[in-house]
Amino acid sequence: MTTPVAPRVRFNALVPDEADRAGIDAAIHRVVDRGWFVLGPEVEAFEAEFAAATQAPHAVGVGTGTDAITLALRALDLGPGDEVITTPLSAAYTALAVMMAGARPVFADLDPARLTLDPAAIEAAITPRTRAILPVHLYGQPADMPRIAAIAERHGLAIVEDAAQAHLATCGGQPVGSWGIATAYSFYPTKNLGALGDGGAVTTRDATLAARIARLRNGGQTTRYQHAEPGANSRLDEMQAAILRARLPHLAAATARRRAIAARYRAALAGASLTVPPECDAGHVYHLFPVLTPHRDRFQAHMTAAGIETLIHYPVPIPRQPALAATSPAPCPIADRITAEVVSLPMYPGLTDTEVAAVGAAAAGFAG
Ligand SMILES: *Cc1c(COP(=O)(O)O)cnc(C)c1O
Repeated sequence: MTTPVAPRVRFNALVPDEADRAGIDAAIHRVVDRGWFVLGPEVEAFEAEFAAATQAPHAVGVGTGTDAITLALRALDLGPGDEVITTPLSAAYTALAVMMAGARPVFADLDPARLTLDPAAIEAAITPRTRAILPVHLYGQPADMPRIAAIAERHGLAIVEDAAQAHLATCGGQPVGSWGIATAYSFYPTKNLGALGDGGAVTTRDATLAARIARLRNGGQTTRYQHAEPGANSRLDEMQAAILRARLPHLAAATARRRAIAARYRAALAGASLTVPPECDAGHVYHLFPVLTPHRDRFQAHMTAAGIETLIHYPVPIPRQPALAATSPAPCPIADRITAEVVSLPMYPGLTDTEVAAVGAAAAGFAG
């Protein structure tokens, strides 16, 4: 029997490094010393700072990225009987959030190059019940927002952007979050801006919508013990907000590092047997770096043998999840093929140049 060896290049590193830790320690102590743990000054300050960083007029901190989507849809008065067109390739939470709002997710297939919603497929999926489009800026690459916005405009539909993987991304030079009426972010620890636990936010240009989401996250309360509507209990807590405030000033540099790693991978993989999805927009923030191969099992074994960890995002198209069966999802053949072939290389700002070179060389050396 062989003992499994720890990979030399990990997929991600979630233990804070020394510089990060100093900021986190200070943030935690500040919150503990203050003794104010929910909906206090840290959340308020983070909301202002995150809104500024994403160039959005308003941000509302919530419990998770999933809740950010659900509460945005609820604040737009979507619910039972309403349809929301979304992508088959994402974290399943995107579609589950639609169901949590009481609405029905309807799947349109992918643009096979961009791996985000195909605008033509969106248009074909519109019915009299369609109320909103929920594009996902998957892997950090913005969806084709100019074309999606034109469709929404033509059909009178709301856009809610899922930017859980796309903090600071831009589309055609315009920030993600500036296309939709509301945009959902996640601060799950692995995300480009991560907390040390769960967290999320909704950004919007609409002050009334922001106030409604702030009410919905807090039980629907208008004033203490007065519940005007049946809200959720989904608040970003003070500790996570303080930690996110410590990390936010470093996000732009971390994003630049992700882009530099991606450029090195692209150079190393030129001419390799793998398919590397193209960068369709220079505003891509590389939450992940996926490649495609019809020989995925063999590729992952090859990388494991080289000491390199890989993961699959995502192995099952959302319409094929048993949890979605009750919504009678339409099949999405392009998503079926992508989920069978996609595999992610290690991608996080702390990767050293040596590690990046090792990953590139090992992946390039795979004989498809
Ligand atoms: C992580 C993620 C979510 C869910 O966010 P949570 O904070 O885990 O609830 C939704 N959509 C996408 C695209 C994600 O990556």
